[in-house]
Amino acid sequence: MAAFDANPAMPNPKMTKAPCPVCKSQADRLEELTRGDHHVFSCPLCGHFQIGGSYAATLYHREPHLVLSGIIRHGTERGESLGMIDQWKAEELEVIAPRSTTEKATHTLELIAKKAPGHGQVLAFDFATDYPLAYGTEEMKN
Ligand SMILES: [Zn+2]
Repeated sequence: MAAFDANPAMPNPKMTKAPCPVCKSQADRLEELTRGDHHVFSCPLCGHFQIGGSYAATLYHREPHLVLSGIIRHGTERGESLGMIDQWKAEELEVIAPRSTTEKATHTLELIAKKAPGHGQVLAFDFATDYPLAYGTEEMKN
């Protein structure tokens, strides 16, 4: 997968506060990167993603999509782009999402290893925004 498609020609893209269609948290929608029926979001919980406008509209009428939030966040932390997310892409991503505790723990440990400043040093998680890393619910932050 390619790295997130940030455009270096626009170092400060115009952003609008908007609810994240995936997790419903307050997020930034990058207006200059909107193309046709696509939107680009930067969410403090899910991370960076592109989403089809009609799929986003259907998600706004549903409960937060925790599995999709976890998948997007995991990709963002790894510097990967999942491409444009529509209904079909979301279904594909759900199929490959970790299901077992072991798979989820492996993903989480992989990210800890990537984020840790050095061997034996403390790595702090922000429970307000990092619980999607465990593919969990908001209740896990308490
Ligand atoms: Zn989100």
